[in-house]
Amino acid sequence: MLNFASSYRRLIVLAAILMTLPALGQTAAPAAPPAAPDLRVFDASLIDKTVDPCQNFYRFSCNGWLKRNPLPADQASYGRFSELFELNRSHLRQILEEAAAPAATRSANEQKIGDEYASCMDTTAVNALGLKPLQPELDRIAALKTAAELPALLAHLHAIGVNAFFGLSSAQDFADSSAVISSYGSGGLGLPERDYYTRTDPKSVEIRQQYVAHVRRIFALAGEPEAQAAKDAETVLALETRLAKATLTITEQRDPQNLNHPTDVAGFSKQLTHFALADYLAAAHAPAAGKANDSEPKFFSEFNALLADTPVNQIRTYLRWHLLHAYAGTSLPESFDHEHWSFYAHTLNGAEQQQDRWKRCTSRVDNELGEALGQVYVARYFPPEEKQKTLEMTLAIEQAMEKDIDGLDWMSAATKLKAKEKLHAVMNKIGYPEKWRDYAKLEIVRGDALGNEQRAHQFDQARDLAKIGKPVDKGEWQMTPPTVNAYYDPQMNNVNFPAGILQPPFFSGKEDDAANYGDMGATIGHELTHGFDDQGRQFDKDGNLKDWWSSADEQQFNERAECTVKQYDAIEAVPGVHLNGKLTLGENLADLGGLRLAWLAWLEKVEAAHLDLKTASDGYTAEQRFWIAYAQSWCTQTRPEQLRSQAQGDPHAPDEYRANTVLTDLPEFAKSFSCKKTAPMVNPKPCRVW
Ligand SMILES: [Zn+2]
Repeated sequence: MLNFASSYRRLIVLAAILMTLPALGQTAAPAAPPAAPDLRVFDASLIDKTVDPCQNFYRFSCNGWLKRNPLPADQASYGRFSELFELNRSHLRQILEEAAAPAATRSANEQKIGDEYASCMDTTAVNALGLKPLQPELDRIAALKTAAELPALLAHLHAIGVNAFFGLSSAQDFADSSAVISSYGSGGLGLPERDYYTRTDPKSVEIRQQYVAHVRRIFALAGEPEAQAAKDAETVLALETRLAKATLTITEQRDPQNLNHPTDVAGFSKQLTHFALADYLAAAHAPAAGKANDSEPKFFSEFNALLADTPVNQIRTYLRWHLLHAYAGTSLPESFDHEHWSFYAHTLNGAEQQQDRWKRCTSRVDNELGEALGQVYVARYFPPEEKQKTLEMTLAIEQAMEKDIDGLDWMSAATKLKAKEKLHAVMNKIGYPEKWRDYAKLEIVRGDALGNEQRAHQFDQARDLAKIGKPVDKGEWQMTPPTVNAYYDPQMNNVNFPAGILQPPFFSGKEDDAANYGDMGATIGHELTHGFDDQGRQFDKDGNLKDWWSSADEQQFNERAECTVKQYDAIEAVPGVHLNGKLTLGENLADLGGLRLAWLAWLEKVEAAHLDLKTASDGYTAEQRFWIAYAQSWCTQTRPEQLRSQAQGDPHAPDEYRANTVLTDLPEFAKSFSCKKTAPMVNPKPCRVW
């Protein structure tokens, strides 16, 4: 759900099982959704028996899948998550096409999702309108005469989804998670993150040149003469580079201590001597007083300095770029849409072909009206029995964690008590929200794609800012129900599993516990472990950023975590680019702990049911099927460009390493496949925290 344009909105990046899947679909648009493919959690037909499982377990488990699933031309990567993502999207398409047929009997929600989908699909209208719907916004920017007029303009641009300079959002106070305060975050970059502006290797220099060429082409499409467009593109890069240099690295942003700078609106306002914050807040209809967090003081100090010494025509250029950039998708003519794809999907991630329009329009409605669309999705595709079964698994894994904590030899009794208190306080959210979002105030007009997009952003921004000063809504979801992902929220202390991921090939009511615990169980364990990873462990049971560890226990934790840092630092993902052990630490600890907890919970079930681990089915024992189901959840094809982007910027390691590395640390795995101590799938000094 979070995309680059709005990624500043949450300070703590939610600890999800994977990055939000890029909106890059499969080729070929079927007229109707295809018959559901036979997706299984454990699938013996995907196994490659010519590979020794103790040599490379990922290849052993996934080669059959990799052979059967060549990378589609319009995908940067394609794996089992994408398989389900595409299936869910074809279900959503059907719902949207039904809702798009004008009928007097449509409900208010059906009118909104149906008309928004139809507006997005109507390329004839979008192309014919050209830049006209955006002209009032371009005029506003052109009318900016002095820096003093910037605050009100910027508030308006932020409300319509333009990621210029910084972001204001509501957030839970780090010190007091029950308070919702104003939170100011860095933003304003067109490249994925700050290091894209600072790296000096030849490939990174080339990417920056390609970025400037992209900005130039967007300006030219908007009608600027070539020479002016070229000059303006350089201005954009220079301003963004200045902002980027003052921004924390993504690794630094992972540590909540680096983002916690409590102040109040008045105090923050005083820092910004060249930006009238009061004007901004008045225009944004945001509270003009109260507690606030200045998440990156260095960034805001540079922003302030930049306003003092940058000619206003350069600021107009920068704002014009971000406006065009924000809308260069399905709301503007296809020339913009294609140019946007060409840089972000093709150049940065290697996709060879743009995905079909219906896929992008479906994802768009999911972004804008996700809980209206999700409500129908859940009714059709997520029966109550599956919700119940997931809840049972979650409780079993929580119990396994409690036992595990009790048995840790490195943690003191006092810290164990606190850890268990936190574990007991975790709230389990499964499938969909108890209370659906009300979209009554969002007006969707058929035939007005750009206006709809603007109003959807304004609706979302108003909803978000209205939370400041009110009690926390613990029932709110950060992902829509059809999403193929899951997350842990450290300030809420809750785990969230959308209905979209509780489907084959990750979970199936038709398959046995060995498969379901190895796959979905590991994901549940993963999210739970996030509450106790290098980031999550800094929050207490109530979600407050408060140290509850004794210093001796903290040292023990850090020593163990360091083993995992080194393990992943040593992996070279593409020639010359190693994984970043520190950036990926939280995810790697969650993978390792999560799989172990799923295994322990499953063993309990096996014991209780008097089952035998060695019972064979499909040619593999139950314990072997547990591990294979885990590895098969990670089968993925990835382009080298995407692998490079991922290694540099994704807190998750590439899938092949997520499958193999944690298994080398689990002696139980080696035992199940009788691996020798010297085998590549056995780490002689296994890493373990939880
Ligand atoms: Zn995660």
